[in-house]
Amino acid sequence: MGVAGRYPDCERCEAPCCTKQFMEDSDHWFKLSEIRPIYTAAGTDVHVVGWAHQPDGRQPMIACDAFDLNKLQCGIYGSRPEHCRTYDCRDDDPDEWQARAHCDLDRHRRLERARAKG
Ligand code: SF4
Ligand code: SF4
Repeated sequence: MGVAGRYPDCERCEAPCCTKQFMEDSDHWFKLSEIRPIYTAAGTDVHVVGWAHQPDGRQPMIACDAFDLNKLQCGIYGSRPEHCRTYDCRDDDPDEWQARAHCDLDRHRRLERARAKG
């Protein structure tokens, strides 16, 4: 039986949590005007990659500008916002796109092995 690590294995993940993110709290969906200050305080910004229609209006899907698409990693790891530190994709329903299954970590590992062989 496998043992779940304390944190998700983010290495080489395509990171839907960084590139296709909706933000919310227990009361409401976040607007761009609420999301942006969280990221500018951390030293980066976000851009909108889509919209969802919620009962109380349109909600932005955002991508974080600090995510390094070449290295597949956070570019501001030391100052990343609090919610980035606590988010664990393993808590999501595996059938939801936010869940780790979406990341296809096995594919990244296969690519790494292929690159290592040259
Ligand atoms: S989706 Fe999960 S494994 Fe991928 S970067 Fe986010 S928390 Fe890490
Ligand atoms: S700050 Fe880092 S961990 Fe947080 S969304 Fe941006 S790239 Fe992802």
